[in-house]
Amino acid sequence: MIGLFGGTFDPIHFGHLRPALEVFNALPFSELRLLPCGVPGHRTRPVANALQRLTMVRAAISSIPGFKLDTREVDKPTPCYTVETLLELRTQMPTHPLAVVIGMDAFLGLESWHRWHEVITLAHLVVTHRPGWDVEHIQDNPVLNRFVGEHQCWQAEELTARPAGGIWFQPVTLLDISATRIRQMLKAGDDVRFLLPESVNQLIKQQRIYA
Ligand code: ATP
Repeated sequence: MIGLFGGTFDPIHFGHLRPALEVFNALPFSELRLLPCGVPGHRTRPVANALQRLTMVRAAISSIPGFKLDTREVDKPTPCYTVETLLELRTQMPTHPLAVVIGMDAFLGLESWHRWHEVITLAHLVVTHRPGWDVEHIQDNPVLNRFVGEHQCWQAEELTARPAGGIWFQPVTLLDISATRIRQMLKAGDDVRFLLPESVNQLIKQQRIYA
């Protein structure tokens, strides 16, 4: 199974990397691809440019076996939609199990995704816990609640047995780190060490990415 972990990664931090690693180790993934997006579909434009975010992701994952950088979204001039990326991947891998890895905050906003109903027909969804975004909130949303009821898997083998269609919830170490907060800290001249890889911190400093 190939994992697809998209984001703005503006910048990439340990709140991305640690859950991604725990998911990668917990489930039968052959590789986990990080996909920095160019123009996000449903949020404001990133602060760092595409090349800078790509460089930071590359530096962050260079020594993690199984983690790969997928640059297909980053150069697109048009907004990135997961459904379109999956459709493109499906032309190359029609039946290989694919899993989109997302944090709970992203999952709770799933209904706002472009053609969200189609995503589950093209890939599994692997949802990681994130501080401040309670799994209980799913029950407050009848549409999402029914969607989970129809698709939730309880055995990891169910994910590798078919190309798409399952939802898996993965508890991970809760790290209350966000890129927004890191950018605010950098703007204020605060020390961001140990919130992100030191290689990324050095790139931010050398290239004055958030100066
Ligand atoms: P921003 O603060 O700019 O919104 P972010 O830190 O939330 O950024 P994104 O690049 O938007 O990072 O997130 C990419 C993916 O990583 C999303 O699926 C998001 O849910 C997940 N994610 C980000 N931070 C965490 C965290 N601390 N714990 C778990 N998942 C996270």
